[in-house]
Amino acid sequence: ALYPIHKFFILNGELKTNDEFKPAENEGGVYEVIRIVDGKPLFLEEHLARFSRSAEIAGREIRYSGTDVSNYLQDLIRENKVYNGNVLVSCKVNLKAFFIAHSYPTKEQYRSGVECGLLHAERENPNAKVFQTTVRGRANQMIAEKGYYEVLLVDHNGNITEGSRSNAFFIKGSQLITPPSEKVLLGVTRQKVIHCARDLGIDVKEEEISLTRLPGFNAVFITGTSPNILPVSKIGITDFDVQNTLLRKLMKQFDLCIEQYVRN
Ligand code: PLP
Repeated sequence: ALYPIHKFFILNGELKTNDEFKPAENEGGVYEVIRIVDGKPLFLEEHLARFSRSAEIAGREIRYSGTDVSNYLQDLIRENKVYNGNVLVSCKVNLKAFFIAHSYPTKEQYRSGVECGLLHAERENPNAKVFQTTVRGRANQMIAEKGYYEVLLVDHNGNITEGSRSNAFFIKGSQLITPPSEKVLLGVTRQKVIHCARDLGIDVKEEEISLTRLPGFNAVFITGTSPNILPVSKIGITDFDVQNTLLRKLMKQFDLCIEQYVRN
């Protein structure tokens, strides 16, 4: 996933063809994955803000401004003539931006939900989006071996924090609950979902989600740049209602939110 697809990529502000791409060490580099919808980088301001914050937390310096990065993305989209997909912006020593392979969930997965596993693992600096191959590697291995869509990370206290590449939400009656901000990556999608929920008058709380609470939830979903909002049908031996009214209402509202962003 860390190779550019399509013809051009950006290296330190310059447009290059993909045969000039050198895969470099990424470990410790900060990055963003931004979804392009109809030629527009979705929720760009939020991604740029998190990119700076990650760099700050990781003690790295990015010598390019948000406006620079925004311009590079426009160049990348225009020159490749690709208007939908995922772009990786990463910075370790060099700043790179390129389209990466993605797999958005299928219609059937949105309809029937996906199964998630549980993995005892903690990300260092939860608030920073930094390439960390150990946790991601273990997660990917478990996903591949067991056929899960995602694995949810469980900390040393037995609390679910987030997915290996997504955030998690839990529904109990009319309550929407998500793990505490300081324990997770502040997903751009997570933030938007919280806004959507509040727009709908839904109460959102941050709480620890111990494994023992799982059977008490009506519905669970994960959020992220690729899945948006994706229902979870099963975690371990616990089943959840993928048709939950609140969940489906939120999914509709989120689609509207994207539509509005892209149109404006
Ligand atoms: N949590 C982790 C650990 C992630 O790696 C990601 C995205 O890759 C997310 C959450 C979701 O973040 P976003 O909604 O900004 O894509």
